[in-house]
Amino acid sequence: MTFHGKSALITGSTSGIGLAIARALAHEGADVMINGLGESNEIEEVRRSIERDYCVKALYSPANMANPHEVVAMVRQAEQAFESVDVLVNNAGVQYVAAVEELPPEKWDTIIAINLSAAFHTTRAAVPGMTARGWGRIINTASAHSLVASPFKSAYVAAKHGIAGLTKTVALEVATSGITVNCISPGYVWTPLVERQIPGTMKARGLSREQVINDVLLEAQPTKQFVTVDQVAALAVFLCSDAASQITGANLSMDGGWTSQ
Ligand code: NAD
Repeated sequence: MTFHGKSALITGSTSGIGLAIARALAHEGADVMINGLGESNEIEEVRRSIERDYCVKALYSPANMANPHEVVAMVRQAEQAFESVDVLVNNAGVQYVAAVEELPPEKWDTIIAINLSAAFHTTRAAVPGMTARGWGRIINTASAHSLVASPFKSAYVAAKHGIAGLTKTVALEVATSGITVNCISPGYVWTPLVERQIPGTMKARGLSREQVINDVLLEAQPTKQFVTVDQVAALAVFLCSDAASQITGANLSMDGGWTSQ
C-alpha cells in the first residue's frame, strides 16, 4: 500500500490516536499536516521525526478546533501547501466527566465544538477539493460512545452520537464522487485522554484509581484489554486503501466486544 503523492490532514494529532494515525499514513508515503495542542518544542520534534522517519513532508497547524475560522483556515493552508487534502481525519477530542447537573455549560459547548462541530467545518471545507479530484477519504474518530452511553459523559456521548450521524449523512452525499466517509469507534485506548479522566471518574463514582481502571474502564471491554493506538491507525490506513473503496457510511467498532453486549 502506498500513498505517495497523497496528503492527509489529521486533527488532534500531537498525541495519542491522532499521532499514531499520522505516523501510519506517513509510513505509507503520505505527506501529513498534524494539528493539536502542546509544548511547541515537543510538537516540532514530533513533526521533524515524521519527516525524518518516513521521508515525507510534515507540517503543523496550531489551529484551535473550537474556533471555526481557524479550522477552515487550517484546511486551506493544507490545500495550498500540498495542493490537495486527500485524506481528512477528524480526530481531535476532549472529555469531561461529571453528572449532567454538574456539567458546566461552557464544558458542554467546548466538547460539542471540538468533538463534533470541528468535523463539520473541516468536512465542509475539504469536500469540494476532494470532489473536484474525484477521490477522498474522510475518517472520523468516533467512539464506542457513538453507539452506547455511559453515565457522567453526556456532552461526549452526545457529540460522538452526532459524529456518527454526520458520517452517514456525508457518506450518502458524496457516494458517487469517489469519496468515502467512515467512522472508527474504539473502546478504551490507553492514551492521555483516558488517563486524564481517571481522577474525575474516581470523584464521580467514589472509587480508587485501580477500581476505575479495572471495574469501570476494562469492565466495559469483554477482552479485558485496552485497544492500542497502532491498531486504530492500521484500520485508518486500510480505510484509505483501494480495497476499502466500497466501505462508506460505516461505523467500525474496535472495542474488544464492548458494544456487542
Ligand atoms: P489525546 O488526548 O491523546 O489526543 C487528543 C488530541 O486532540 C491531542 O493532540 C490534543 O492536543 C488535541 N486537541 C484537544 N483539544 C484541541 C483543540 N481545541 N484544538 C486542536 N486540537 C485539540 O486523546 P486520544 O485518546 O488520542 O483521543 C483522540 C480521539 O479518539 C478523540 O476524538 C477521542 O474522543 C477518541 N477516542 C478515544 C478513546 C480512548 O479510549 N482514548 C476511545 C474512543 C475514542
